[in-house]
Amino acid sequence: RAKAMGRNRHEFFTQNLQAEIISHKRTADELLAGIERQEFVTWYQPQFDAVTTELTGVEALVRWQHPHHGILAPDRFLKIAEDLNVTSLLDHIVLETVLRDKQRWAQMGLHVPKVSVNVSSRRLHDQSLVEVLTNLDIPPNQISFELVESIFLDEHEDIAATNLEQIKALGIDIEIDDFGTGHTSIVSLLKLKPKRLKIDRQLVMPILHSPQERALVRSIIEIARSLGVETVAEGVETMQHAALLRELGCDLLQGYAFARPLPFNDFTTMALANWTRVAA
Ligand code: C2E
Ligand code: MG
Ligand code: MG
Ligand code: MG
Repeated sequence: RAKAMGRNRHEFFTQNLQAEIISHKRTADELLAGIERQEFVTWYQPQFDAVTTELTGVEALVRWQHPHHGILAPDRFLKIAEDLNVTSLLDHIVLETVLRDKQRWAQMGLHVPKVSVNVSSRRLHDQSLVEVLTNLDIPPNQISFELVESIFLDEHEDIAATNLEQIKALGIDIEIDDFGTGHTSIVSLLKLKPKRLKIDRQLVMPILHSPQERALVRSIIEIARSLGVETVAEGVETMQHAALLRELGCDLLQGYAFARPLPFNDFTTMALANWTRVAA
């Protein structure tokens, strides 16, 4: 009996694994087809000055407009994209979209000072990245690259370091994304001379109730400020969070308290109606 159960269990796992492999394979095929069919779109989430509440910029976030499943967030497909070695391609599609959308905003009289795009480790380590960027004709000081801290623990440090310097030389800012989740020291990260440090929402969300996280966020902001690096809080879900972060000296705020990531049209409508100052 035990033997039979063991076999059943074995079969159960094998079947599950097979189902998983098939579903993974199907998603992988669909993802490649989705790239062909241009189903990957770029959404925007605004960022605001903590003191003046002015719109300071947006973060561009990729979405998959799936023909059957609707809009899919990156946690549904980035891992598979990585396995397929197409994250760089997705990053590139997003950046090209951003450059086009920036022009559309300018034509509509909407001033979006900065667009931040997420850059995968693969892309930062890509030998041809700088050449590709040079051909894109990126307007200086209007685009920034968000890099997670773990990128800097990877191998091929030299390529990444060379790319970083040349990216900066092209007038693209560097932001450290999700700071506080990795194991990198803040001092070593700030040596990279990023323009901004984005404090991860896991640190930001508990600040109202937890003195530990509040103290941690306060010191991160102080260290960054003393080195001339701007701080952005992500995951700002309530106005109480916003008020406290402002008190702690955080420069920029991003989160559901203000807006969720929005498709181009919704973002543009909201921005024109609420987030721009009418010129006097
Ligand atoms: P991220 O770069 O840290 O982006 C912020 C994430 O937090 C976004 O999730 C955003 O929707 C979410 N968020 C914003 N405000 C709040 C809030 O107040 N509360 C909560 N709970 N969440 C909030 P999203 O869009 O699902 O993206 C997840 C991650 O996927 C991003 O995290 C980024 O690491 C990655 N990603 C997104 N777009 C791209 C891309 O174009 N290329 C690459 N390589 N990665 C991307
Ligand atoms: Mg980001
Ligand atoms: Mg982040
Ligand atoms: Mg994050």
